[in-house]
Amino acid sequence: MTNTDNSYDTLIVGGGPAGLSAALHLAWHKRRVLVLDRRTGPLFFTLTKLENVPGLPGISGVKLQQTLRKQVEALGAEIKRANVVKASGQAGNFLLETDKGEQFAAKTLLLATGIARYHPTVNGDWRPCLAYAGKCNVYYCPDCEAPEIDDKQTVVIGVGSSRGAVSTAQHLYEHSKKLLLLLSGETEMRENDEIWVKERNIPIYRQGIAELVGKRGCLEAVVLADGIKLSADAFFVSSPKVPRTDLAQQLGLSVTKSGHAEVKSQRGNTAVDGLWIAGDLRPMTQQVAIAMGTGSIAAVHIDQYLAEKYQALAG
Ligand SMILES: Cc1cc2nc3c(=O)[nH]c(=O)nc-3n(C[C@H](O)[C@H](O)[C@H](O)COP(=O)(O)OP(=O)(O)OC[C@H]3O[C@@H](n4cnc5c(N)ncnc54)[C@H](O)[C@@H]3O)c2cc1C
Repeated sequence: MTNTDNSYDTLIVGGGPAGLSAALHLAWHKRRVLVLDRRTGPLFFTLTKLENVPGLPGISGVKLQQTLRKQVEALGAEIKRANVVKASGQAGNFLLETDKGEQFAAKTLLLATGIARYHPTVNGDWRPCLAYAGKCNVYYCPDCEAPEIDDKQTVVIGVGSSRGAVSTAQHLYEHSKKLLLLLSGETEMRENDEIWVKERNIPIYRQGIAELVGKRGCLEAVVLADGIKLSADAFFVSSPKVPRTDLAQQLGLSVTKSGHAEVKSQRGNTAVDGLWIAGDLRPMTQQVAIAMGTGSIAAVHIDQYLAEKYQALAG
């Protein structure tokens, strides 16, 4: 499928809650929209319930993705599974290319490619964590999930910096005092962090993981390189989150200090005319409601932009 005749009003890269919410508004306003998505977003795998999604108590990630997809397609937007590897062009004629060489063009472009999270590694391999990626009792996002560990014995697994791991522990301490800290990445701590942890009698372990023990998608224990087994009710991963800015950068967009794509205003518009950013790719906390909101805001302004720029010309 190749369509470079520029007949799409908007191409959206990323079919998570941000990209699909944007597609919904644009399709509702009769814009011709194509969403290109490689389906690696967290909600494609989250089988257990999401928290804090207004109006949708208890919905799973998978169900939310399916519901949004149906709603968007019913209004006429197209959704295609594809991995976009190249972005070029400018307002009026953005061009995307997939890893299979397919090309698509549109007047405007929205990037909602989300962030990549690092899983803990087991003997250097991150894939064993996929067995627990359906969520159950392994968490990654304090803003979204911290209340899930209320009063539970929880291992905080530091994958990257010790500062990040202690910061996660500090956030979680509001919810449970029964924490253990495993520094599987950086093992040295700042003096203040060391004092904070010791004052609260939080046990610290500084080594890699040799084995994950669990069943039916729920983790029961991590076994450390020296054989120590840390059993717990919950496991909270503190890992680097890397915004997927490759396409934004190909189009000349700068990234912020936090590594996010830079936007010009809360609308999600950018320094590149005709290019918008939404969802986790923007420098803000990662939550479904926020992703949807930023997708909707971007779409409202894309629709108005199209009306001003192209309908005025046609008229
Ligand atoms: C384990 C876990 C549990 C969570 N639980 C909650 C919760 O309970 N409540 C809550 O509010 N939030 C939760 N979150 C956060 C929430 O999932 C995110 O904030 C939200 O999914 C962000 O939406 P998004 O559309 O910006 O990005 P994503 O959902 O990450 O979607 C981005 C999409 O873009 C695609 N993509 C990226 N690059 C390309 C490319 N080059 N070509 C094609 N496609 C591409 C990806 O495959 C992906 O499908 C959780 C996150 C995780 C990891």
